[in-house]
Amino acid sequence: MKTIKDVFNAFKQSLAPLYDASEIEALTLMIISEITGSSKAMIKAFPEQEITLPQSEELNNILIRLQTGEPIQYILGHTEFYGLTFKVNPSVLIPRPETEELVAWVLNSKVKNQKSKVATILDIGTGSGCIAISLKKNLPEAKVSAIDISTDALQTAKQNSELNEVNINFIQVDILNINPEIEIPKSEIIISNPPYVTLHDKTQMHTNVTDFEPHTALFVPEKDPLIFYKAIANFAMENLIPNGLLFFEINENLGKETVEILESKGFKNIELRKDMSGRDRMVRASRTGI
Ligand code: GLN
Repeated sequence: MKTIKDVFNAFKQSLAPLYDASEIEALTLMIISEITGSSKAMIKAFPEQEITLPQSEELNNILIRLQTGEPIQYILGHTEFYGLTFKVNPSVLIPRPETEELVAWVLNSKVKNQKSKVATILDIGTGSGCIAISLKKNLPEAKVSAIDISTDALQTAKQNSELNEVNINFIQVDILNINPEIEIPKSEIIISNPPYVTLHDKTQMHTNVTDFEPHTALFVPEKDPLIFYKAIANFAMENLIPNGLLFFEINENLGKETVEILESKGFKNIELRKDMSGRDRMVRASRTGI
């Protein structure tokens, strides 16, 4: 690979079995830009431009990893979410665009009787920290806490909070088995994107998700796919302040069942929302009524 054009051709050929043509083109453009430091516009305008030998080697190494199905976000070690940059590694799920829609919904929601900005927010199963950090960035006066079971995920989330220059209270908690000695602040908003992929859903998923992303962040037992939703709904009933709001990202096939759980726990004003692809993806519920 000597020129930009050679890189495009090599990527196109080698990745054809894994990605479709438009994905490969966007991916290649992004990678060349990252490695050469040139803008995407310059890369497109000068396809005959030569690249250096170290750049060629680096691009080749990336291509080899991409051919195994490894997600580009893990190869580069970072991704974008809600206009911010986040470090990612295999201990955390790669932030998804539908989760940005959930963050936007939180930011557009108001807690009743609350004149000031949202004061306390809790993110359950924070992973990379993308939800907690993007909320704090947009609500600088809020006190944001974030919990996760995984030490490695919490370490990554902490690095991301430093990278994005926000202060988050990180706590290690197993939400299915909460240690009563750990103090978790009462909140006006609780938000969670817990694991919700069943073994049945897994069969339809791309191997670059199932072979590379953390299974503890993705999968749930087939016999109790809403195990996290039940635990978090119970927790939220105890830990949300009156009129506080609970937000969930959900399994697109379990919208009705998720709503039923929230009803059975006594939540009010339950609203199910679709994502941009038209799939049931989010739920908002109020502890006592908005
Ligand atoms: N939406 C993610 C996926 O399809 C799953 C996220 C989750 O389990 N919370 O890969």
